[in-house]
Amino acid sequence: MIDLHLHTTASDGTLRPADLVAHAAAAGITTLSVTDHDTTAGLAEARGEADRLGLRFISGIEITAVEDGRDTHILGYFVDAAGEAFAGFLAGQRQDRVRRVREMAERLEALGAPIDAGPLVASGLDHGRSIGRPHVAAALVARGHVRTHDEAFERYLDTGQPAFVPRSGASAAQVIDVIHQAGGVAALAHPGPSRSDRLIPGLAASGLDAIEVRHSDHDEAAEARYRALAATLGLAVSGGSDFHGEASGRSRLLGTVFITADDLAGLEARRR
Ligand code: AMP
Ligand code: ZN
Ligand code: FE
Ligand code: FE
Repeated sequence: MIDLHLHTTASDGTLRPADLVAHAAAAGITTLSVTDHDTTAGLAEARGEADRLGLRFISGIEITAVEDGRDTHILGYFVDAAGEAFAGFLAGQRQDRVRRVREMAERLEALGAPIDAGPLVASGLDHGRSIGRPHVAAALVARGHVRTHDEAFERYLDTGQPAFVPRSGASAAQVIDVIHQAGGVAALAHPGPSRSDRLIPGLAASGLDAIEVRHSDHDEAAEARYRALAATLGLAVSGGSDFHGEASGRSRLLGTVFITADDLAGLEARRR
């Protein structure tokens, strides 16, 4: 089984990289990619455990681009995490995440739902870890301002809610370029829940390599639509669970969403 979309504690997953790989192996996954938000800090540990367990490991990343003021997630596969330009770009992305968490904390304070942002910001400045809204949601739950992660997003953190702070940063075309410069292939993540269909033809013209056809938030109709669109535009197919850990407040299961060996071969053929 092939799952190319997984998160660890290097970003907003709840399992350490080695534990995630062990859980994936137990769920029957044989090829995997770790795709943390704007960081490659989890890759070395995950690769070590995958090697130990005899799994195929593909280095990955999920980069947040900003398109028309909205977040657009771009996945990168086969990236060389050691490249200086790539590492510098990602450090800038994480810096903006810290700024955003600080501003969200200020808004929450003004809204009467203060969180202790100090430790969170410190972890965002440490060892390549990337922080974001799921960490703020966890802090809101811990302080008793909301009961669940979902309630934190619904009341405060979702786009348009009172503690939402827009991001600033690279466009999707720039992110695709950064991924290519790092030797990777670029896939548009979860276009269904991101409602990014209208961006796809333009991104294809900007060098996008693939569409994430299979995802936990895509039903069969969405999958069929994106598979057809990929074929029409000459794009490869990627996919995975987007698992963040059982305790992450997001109900996704390991070993339930995967792509075929043919899909992976098509993705790999886009490497240059
Ligand atoms: P950020 O990178 O800070 O913008 O946070 C985005 C992450 O928050 C996504 O990758 C999801 O893991 C999570 N997320 C986004 N929207 C929601 C939501 N409505 N409910 C729960 N989690 C969400
Ligand atoms: Zn996430
Ligand atoms: Fe995403
Ligand atoms: Fe993700």
